[in-house]
Amino acid sequence: MRYPFLDLKAAGAPLMEELQEAATRVIASGWYLRGEETAALEREMATLCQTDHCVAVSNGLDALRLVLRAWLEMGRVHPGDKVAVQANTYIASVLAITDSGLTPVLIDPYDRTFNLHPALLELELEKQPDIKALMPVHLYGTPCWGFGMSELIEKHNLLVLEDNAQAIGARAAWPGLHGTKTTGSLGHAAATSFYPTKNVGALGDAGCVTTNDAELAATVRALANYGSDTRYHNIYRGFNCRMDEMQAALLRVKLRHLSEETARRQAVAEAYNEAIMSPYVIKPDIDPGMRQVWHQYVVQVASPMRDAFRQHLAAGGVGTDIHYAVPPHRQPCYSNEFGNLDLPVTDTLAGRVVSLPIAPPITVDDARAIAEIINRFAI
Ligand SMILES: *Cc1c(COP(=O)(O)O)cnc(C)c1O
Repeated sequence: MRYPFLDLKAAGAPLMEELQEAATRVIASGWYLRGEETAALEREMATLCQTDHCVAVSNGLDALRLVLRAWLEMGRVHPGDKVAVQANTYIASVLAITDSGLTPVLIDPYDRTFNLHPALLELELEKQPDIKALMPVHLYGTPCWGFGMSELIEKHNLLVLEDNAQAIGARAAWPGLHGTKTTGSLGHAAATSFYPTKNVGALGDAGCVTTNDAELAATVRALANYGSDTRYHNIYRGFNCRMDEMQAALLRVKLRHLSEETARRQAVAEAYNEAIMSPYVIKPDIDPGMRQVWHQYVVQVASPMRDAFRQHLAAGGVGTDIHYAVPPHRQPCYSNEFGNLDLPVTDTLAGRVVSLPIAPPITVDDARAIAEIINRFAI
């Protein structure tokens, strides 16, 4: 492959010295959990997300679970309560809801943005007024926060947990519940993932929770540390979901490069949008009102041609991927509960989406070359 879909080794190579320096610092410190690196990363993430608090945790799924569990402990939600989420998300969003004993309400996305549209959410809220919480997923790096979202949430008194796993540093076109526009600060709480393939990737698993709610932050922090508020004093039946100092130190290096890497992702997305002309391909929207961070650049190709399209690209040395081929409601683990749901947009998108290479080290020149290969696709 001349253009692999994702090459983490090549992406990490320019940071080798900085990463080694950070790792050496942690090894030499003799302090490996709940220390200065984690505290510093939390401050840096809170600043980036424009929130008062950040709690570093073990991974993105745990970040989602810990917020929902904290809301249960705090009495803000109750076992069995309904949580609305877009049906085309990665399964982790739904796993967090069911693992917490809450009930997912899967909603079809708007096919132009791949995200939950406020009008579609409103229709669902009219049908199911007992929906208590909302999990907007900023899928592919596009903020899931359309016009009227804040008003709708306030009207229906929803608790909002953003799944910010794919959108670190993104900015919505419309202000969130606290007046800020940065994803991670739009709702009452947000979960970010630092899985190695995400825009800011750890060298292993890591994640964080951001919020302006001091009580929630303290509850999440306690739950992630065996449920203890002070040493050997356990107020909850908690977990061990901490981030270690090594990942925190490495992530701080990665964070320093985020704005330059996001700018490059945006330039690559623009190059694709300009240069892809194939009548077989629907390109994603670039919305000048928001700051998309392009975790994925996802095109749509009619399902009978998708395999041929991917084979054509592979023959030209271009790696592609599908996010996601099987949506959560079609997974064996949910077939009893959700197998009969009618989610035509989600099912159609699962058959049409193709992700093109966009992560470092892909450049604008690479994107133009890949677009030329795409434009030669014929069936
Ligand atoms: C990656 C991801 C998660 C889970 O994050 P992990 O750190 O892998 O646990 C959750 N939601 C979405 C949308 C994701 O892409």
